[in-house]
Amino acid sequence: MDKLKMAACGVDCNECGQYKVTKDHDMKSAELLVEWFRIRGWIEPNEGAEAVIKKAPLCNGCWNTTDDCFWKCGCGSRDFRVCCKEKQINHCGECENFPCENYIEWSTWNEAHKKAMDYLKTLKKAKEIVCGSTMHTVSESGLGADWVMSLTDEESYPAASMITASRADGFKWIAFCSGLGWNKPNRVEKDPRSCVYLFDKESFSGISLTGKIKIITDLEVKKQMWYDALGDFWNGYEDDRWCVLMFKPEKYSIFIDNRTIRGEF
Ligand code: SF4
Ligand code: SF4
Repeated sequence: MDKLKMAACGVDCNECGQYKVTKDHDMKSAELLVEWFRIRGWIEPNEGAEAVIKKAPLCNGCWNTTDDCFWKCGCGSRDFRVCCKEKQINHCGECENFPCENYIEWSTWNEAHKKAMDYLKTLKKAKEIVCGSTMHTVSESGLGADWVMSLTDEESYPAASMITASRADGFKWIAFCSGLGWNKPNRVEKDPRSCVYLFDKESFSGISLTGKIKIITDLEVKKQMWYDALGDFWNGYEDDRWCVLMFKPEKYSIFIDNRTIRGEF
């Protein structure tokens, strides 16, 4: 099985004992589940890890639960997955009501749930910093819009330089502007992979995103991304000497509040 997408509640299903039993019939994970299964009467008092394994599939992961999953509701996540599906979001951290009362109560059940909530809170905070760090949002957010963009240069070395973000839709995309024929678009044409980095001095937070860039010259997109300072280089959004570098993040490494979280979108 491939690596699983994070559960709607923020738990990493790949690290879950029930998934490990399902995926690999992992004996160590099964042993840890024995007591719990006995208490609930799912196995007999004299049965052990083998009996737990016989119940597999226990869970195929939050987003892959099937009718034959023994533990269908996915870590007691109280329909978080259903709620997220309805809202068309990937996890509760993307919800405008996060953490809702239901989620807060769930987070008090055990350490793993509390950890999941902290993880999603960090992701949400990072998203707010990203959205506030663009030319179209800095006047309201009070943040800066300067990012560092790393691309592969002509000799295949990594090359990092400053660039200003125009707009961002959270972690879905971040738009930057550059001149056609300049270093950045030239390098993107050869290799669209990039790492963009944002440092927020006030909160001492660092957000590193890895993904790919598309060069966009569509006038409607350019119109939306245009900001006044670009007038120092070009004669308005219709000027055909500039383009939008549309970055789509795939992975993240985020340092906020003295902790680092890493993952994939
Ligand atoms: S959804 Fe399933 S695999 Fe994911 S954490 Fe919950 S029980 Fe484990
Ligand atoms: S309301 Fe939001 S935070 Fe609460 S369960 Fe639904 S998606 Fe999650």
